Amino acid sequence: AALPAQAEVLVIGAGPVGLFTVFQLGLQGLRAHLVDALPHTGGQCAELYGDKPIYDVPGVPVCTGRELVALLERQIAPMAPVRHLGRRVEALSPPETEGGAWQARLDDGTVLAARAVVIAAGVGAFVPRALKIEGIDTLPPDVLHYHDAPVPPDTAVVVHGGDDPAVLRALALTADPDHPPVVLLHRRDVFQAPPEALAALSAARAAGRIQVQVGQPLRIAAQGGAAVLTVLDAEGQEQALPLGRLEVRLGLSPRLGPIADWGIALERKQLVVDTARFATSAPGVYAVGDINTYPGKRKLILCGFHEATLAAFAVAERLSGAPVALQYTTTSPRLHQRLGVA
Ligand code: FAD
Repeated sequence: AALPAQAEVLVIGAGPVGLFTVFQLGLQGLRAHLVDALPHTGGQCAELYGDKPIYDVPGVPVCTGRELVALLERQIAPMAPVRHLGRRVEALSPPETEGGAWQARLDDGTVLAARAVVIAAGVGAFVPRALKIEGIDTLPPDVLHYHDAPVPPDTAVVVHGGDDPAVLRALALTADPDHPPVVLLHRRDVFQAPPEALAALSAARAAGRIQVQVGQPLRIAAQGGAAVLTVLDAEGQEQALPLGRLEVRLGLSPRLGPIADWGIALERKQLVVDTARFATSAPGVYAVGDINTYPGKRKLILCGFHEATLAAFAVAERLSGAPVALQYTTTSPRLHQRLGVA
């Protein structure tokens, strides 16, 4: 194989810049672990503007966020990163010996070892927006869910949210005819979802499988050993909803989270780097894309691509201990081998 079987470098974040970092590391003969908190790649391009056009990626006059991600995925395919999607990097510990491996702990307990780390964490890990109301902390963990998980039979489910994730979750739960009707709670009777999902929602409402409750959640309290969610409805009346399961789908928001605790120099929540190697203050840790800062920094995808390229050269030089010569993808037999086009 053109690339080693073992991943030696850790890339934190699978936004456009993290994806291109995987490609550039691959050209250097390095395989990467690729971690993202989202269950899919693409970062902001996929999550915030998947269907909107981008006009300033060199050589691509126009493409949507999602199309750019698909093109990048095609480009990095030969580099076969080891993917850890839907996983957040919680902790990063320095090597115990000079030249040893960094250890990254993921939120599922997995520990990844890497001789170099490239942080491409953008504006932070995309995590579910939390519902903050009185009494929510008293709910047992099997009642409050931000991600899909099996629901025991005969459970009274309230799904809270008004966009695709909430609508699709409510529909999925009603697919089982034995399941009791699902309550879909939203502040108004208007839902944002693809036309097919909206049509299915209307049908499920007509059949009594989904009950839409318009209102604002106010508080959660225990009544007779069971949890009850109190909602302020459109008429200003309080409604009590029995709660066997609360599925919150209020969208995602980025959190810088643990990165601030990794002992790496920050300036206004950005990682400080030099512009020759994109190295941070921690030896062997680099930062590219929206997460870094340096004089003249612009948060643009093409700037991130440049940073990823120079960081990959710097990682290769650090790991080999020798200068790395420039080669062209057009003419280099070695790069052709790594690209799988030899
Ligand atoms: P991101 O895209 O933010 O990806 C970072 C990824 O890291 C995320 O997926 C996040 O979940 C993950 N992550 C973070 N921390 C962790 C952790 N601890 N563990 C696991 N995963 C983690 N730029 C342009 O050049 N042209 C445009 O036309 C343009 N239009 C835009 C339109 C909008 C509406 C927005 C919001 C931005 C636009 N941008 C545009 C900016 C561009 O999207 C960003 O510059 C780009 O996404 C930065 O890429 P990135 O890979 O650095 O970070």
